[in-house]
Amino acid sequence: MACAYSSILPKFDASLAKKHPMRRRLVAGNWKMNKGYREARALFDYLNDTARDMPAEVDVMIAPPALYLSSFAKESTKKIEVGAQDVSQRREAEGAYTGEISASILNSAGVHYAIVGHSERRSYHGEDDELIREKIRACIDAGLAPVYCCGEQLEDRDSDRHFDVVRKQLDTALKDFTALELQKLIVAYEPVWAIGTGKTASPGQAQEMHAYIRKVIGERFDTDFAAAVRILYGGSCKPGNAAEIFSGEDVDGGLIGGASLKGEDFVAIIKAGL
Ligand code: PEP
Repeated sequence: MACAYSSILPKFDASLAKKHPMRRRLVAGNWKMNKGYREARALFDYLNDTARDMPAEVDVMIAPPALYLSSFAKESTKKIEVGAQDVSQRREAEGAYTGEISASILNSAGVHYAIVGHSERRSYHGEDDELIREKIRACIDAGLAPVYCCGEQLEDRDSDRHFDVVRKQLDTALKDFTALELQKLIVAYEPVWAIGTGKTASPGQAQEMHAYIRKVIGERFDTDFAAAVRILYGGSCKPGNAAEIFSGEDVDGGLIGGASLKGEDFVAIIKAGL
């Protein structure tokens, strides 16, 4: 199927477009600032109880409010991994930084992923790709897998600048790293206009941007590394559209906001990840 933007896509190495055998699918749930303790516990228990029905081929991660990370990480089945929604950019393991949680402290509590650069952190907390690069660095130093979020605003897409915007985000955030350092990197393509809006990128738009992100990473590092990086889609993913979006050759799963707050919906999306 021809994509609307394919004519302006730079040349793409078709060999990269094949699903890489090393790329396991990942479905991650970003709970954001939701769920008091009882509700959070109920959802966590539901996911643990349902873990045996989840496909073995799909990795699962949840990012609950920070307060619950440590106990959830301890009690989680092997199937459900726990990640932070954010992390301090400080590279020190400890220090006088009130309110911050270092990557090292997360790791010590059994938390092995951290979302960095979510669009809500960018818009409500003024985070930019320079700062986000420091957060990625802090994750790498502490052995955490950074889930790096990038994506364009609606006006960028409407004016056909979405590829340039995402390239610039990647260029800034991934500057000065080596491929070896970024072995645990996960990228989440989250078009801002699709987050929490009910508007989803079409499967073609998602695949097209994922292929482009892989190409940019391939140019910056090397194509073998790029072929192994997992790239998730995020933006109003639901049980009804997940399978189609995930079918894109460069789409390795999803970062799920609203639909991860309902156990049945989240499990349905995990199953769509197969
Ligand atoms: C998100 O916030 O990362 C997200 C994808 O949210 P939603 O699924 O609600 O659009």
